[in-house]
Amino acid sequence: MINFIHVLDDNVINQIAAGEVVEGPYSVVKELIENAIDAKADSIVVEIKEGGKKFIRISDNGIGINEHEVEQAFMRHTTSKITKINDLDTLITLGFRGEALASIASVSQVEIITKTKDQQHGILLEITGGRIVNRKVVGCPTGTTIIIKNLFFNTPARFKFMKSTQVETSKISEIISRLAISKTDIAFKYINNNNIMFTTSGKGIVRDAIINVFGKEIAKNLIEVDESNKEYEIKGYISQPEHTRGNRNYEIIFVNNRFVKSKIIFSAIEDAYKGSVVINRFPICFLYLNINPSLIDINVHPAKTEIKVFDEQAIYDFIYDAIKKSLTKESTVSDFKINL
Ligand code: ADP
Ligand code: MG
Repeated sequence: MINFIHVLDDNVINQIAAGEVVEGPYSVVKELIENAIDAKADSIVVEIKEGGKKFIRISDNGIGINEHEVEQAFMRHTTSKITKINDLDTLITLGFRGEALASIASVSQVEIITKTKDQQHGILLEITGGRIVNRKVVGCPTGTTIIIKNLFFNTPARFKFMKSTQVETSKISEIISRLAISKTDIAFKYINNNNIMFTTSGKGIVRDAIINVFGKEIAKNLIEVDESNKEYEIKGYISQPEHTRGNRNYEIIFVNNRFVKSKIIFSAIEDAYKGSVVINRFPICFLYLNINPSLIDINVHPAKTEIKVFDEQAIYDFIYDAIKKSLTKESTVSDFKINL
């Protein structure tokens, strides 16, 4: 239909933006957990039903949202995290675009209950397809609980593109697992269809979190990596060469505490294993790299996991040597905490 030129309704704009921000249930889970982390929660409970397609609930004990700002949080481009563009240079939060809540609320049924520590009571707000349908004062603890029901109920084309419950569940599990082993000072609880999938203690011990999330069997066969020089530091665990996987799903790498997939880092690791693992088998690793931020360009798009490394040869050599060293020495496994 050709029409006169007009400004789009905010809700339509949000639904269009949701096409980018809300790829599926797993991106809802990611955005909401990141909000809980940004709110300084040290306990986060994630509950999903039917792969998150029907129901997602994230509860945190973070700072909560002030009663006068709850509606505002669901508007487009509203954030408490940055004010000017230069703030991005010193960003310490995971979010900053102020798009997630507005986008999610425009394509689902949302209920939020939130309270700050200075308020006596909390606020419950219900939003359906971007429109507020209920607001009331409720009693609740400090923090935020947000429930997302019936994702894409009002956008049939998007609804159709959601995958099976099993596929959507595994994407969500992957996201939560990564967050739980990178934010080990937060106690996570993950519940899927009323079954507790895992809990972490929040005590900051990386090996314990790996055991809780990935199981004792994987953790049993890990060797420690711990090397550093002026510019790079690598800590973490890698598998003995005889314990490998058929894909790269267990090559989990964090750079400056952010999950990344980097070709150069994968090659450095895999080359170090060459000769000791069969072709098309991949090591298991949980590696935490700290790199001087001026030596990398982290693409800040929320959905991207690539990074750009300025001196590829230097990082390759550093990682290759660190992995080789751990594989060849008689390694003892100790516990460590990551600097968060
Ligand atoms: P962003 O995270 O990019 O700022 P969001 O749309 O995800 O944008 O959230 C908007 C705002 O709502 C945040 O800046 C924050 O102030 C508030 N908010 C969202 N989730 C929470 C939460 N779990 N606890 C406290 N505040 C929250
Ligand atoms: Mg956010």
